[in-house]
Amino acid sequence: MPAVATPPRAAAAPVTEKKLPAAASHVDFNRITDEQFLIAAEHMKLEDEIQLLLRTPYRELVVQVPVRMDDGHLEMFHGYRVQYNGVRGPYKGGIRYHHEVDLSEVRSLAALMTWKTAIVDLPFGGAKGGVTCDPTKMSRKELQALTRGFTQKIDMALGPYRDIPAPDAGTNAQTMAWIMDEYGKKHGYTPAIVTGKPVNLGGSLGREEATGRGVTIITQEACKAYHINFKGASVAIQGFGNVGSWTAILMHQLGAKIVAVSDVVGGIWSEGGLDIPRVVEHCKSTGSVCGFKGARAIDNEGLLALDVDVLIPAALGGAITRRNVDGVRARLIIEAANSPITPHADEKLHARGIPVVPDILANAGGVTVSYFEWVQNLQQFNWTHEKVNLELEARMLRAWRSVYTRSVEGGTPLRIAAFVDALDKVAQATRQRF
Ligand code: NAD
Repeated sequence: MPAVATPPRAAAAPVTEKKLPAAASHVDFNRITDEQFLIAAEHMKLEDEIQLLLRTPYRELVVQVPVRMDDGHLEMFHGYRVQYNGVRGPYKGGIRYHHEVDLSEVRSLAALMTWKTAIVDLPFGGAKGGVTCDPTKMSRKELQALTRGFTQKIDMALGPYRDIPAPDAGTNAQTMAWIMDEYGKKHGYTPAIVTGKPVNLGGSLGREEATGRGVTIITQEACKAYHINFKGASVAIQGFGNVGSWTAILMHQLGAKIVAVSDVVGGIWSEGGLDIPRVVEHCKSTGSVCGFKGARAIDNEGLLALDVDVLIPAALGGAITRRNVDGVRARLIIEAANSPITPHADEKLHARGIPVVPDILANAGGVTVSYFEWVQNLQQFNWTHEKVNLELEARMLRAWRSVYTRSVEGGTPLRIAAFVDALDKVAQATRQRF
């Protein structure tokens, strides 16, 4: 008889259960998004019933995902999928892997997705997902097992016309490929179930850099509006992942001077401007921007306080708060990350005359090209890279003009104008459907 391989015995291996994090970070993101909503709702005199409908998430899934880790022990992960609002179309939003992810943060990001898809006028609602884990400390095998397990647990709420995930911080095209594969085992080949896939599995050309490209387009427009010469403008970018690195690459190509970039480890700074293609190579080979020759070291707090034309927080939420807002010296801020500025800090920046382009407009390029990917998958017809970029530019410019005009005509900050623009569209669809 051939020997039968037996899996490691669970009883013999230690079992770890991660405690459900309460308020994982020092910032209550859900409160921030709700506060921003209420300011805009008050401004536009939105009726109470519509406010109630738009402030309430449609469905929240909380799931537990057991994973056998490489050392044999069993770890229990907590995952979330919040479908916030679907009156304008299927739920749409990324999946985040981060050790501070909790339900409140995912709910707030799902609300932001609802307003974001409305601003760029996509036929989608808003959703978000996340798993509390540290992907930087997990092997490929562990990440694959986690992703497949998470997909099985939320499968019943997904669908190409129901809810379509995408990558967010800590996830990427590979994660989406695993989700598509796992979903396909039960439902058959369904590339439109996720966006941000590898291109040869049905991903769209231009999706990888789409958020950074959108941030770049919006920054160029904002520079024109606020009388900053984009060519040669000094730019500091916090975060060098998908969004931060692509923003740096594209802005560098267009002649902006990227003077500082950072990641979770720390940052680098060169007054004369960084050689971004070389920084990207350095980051690929070492895993961080730190230690790049020809630049000085700077920490994240120092980067946020640099005297630059444009500051771009492109890491995680809660970067600029009451604690450090007085140190900010930039002339213009573009929110590439979601919720990087708390409402208190936002007010202070407004009082000092520093314009802030809000996340729901500035980083909408990612979901816009996700929409193009979904359309291509449903039609089984591929667009050229050039067509993707042209369509993205057209949508971003239209959204910018609409929000900027509202802001000028209403004498409001861009954030209120952006929220009013989005709430108008979602409220109208709600009134028509209820
Ligand atoms: P990513 O995981 O690819 O990169 C995150 C970057 O931030 C990394 O460089 C990481 O080292 C850095 N970082 C993490 N914690 C940090 C800290 N405490 N201080 C400084 N740097 C830190 O993530 P991403 O996809 O680039 O997303 C970044 C932000 O943009 C998130 O807020 C995300 O929600 C938002 N966003 C992403 C997309 C997208 O298409 N990926 C679309 C819209 C919005």
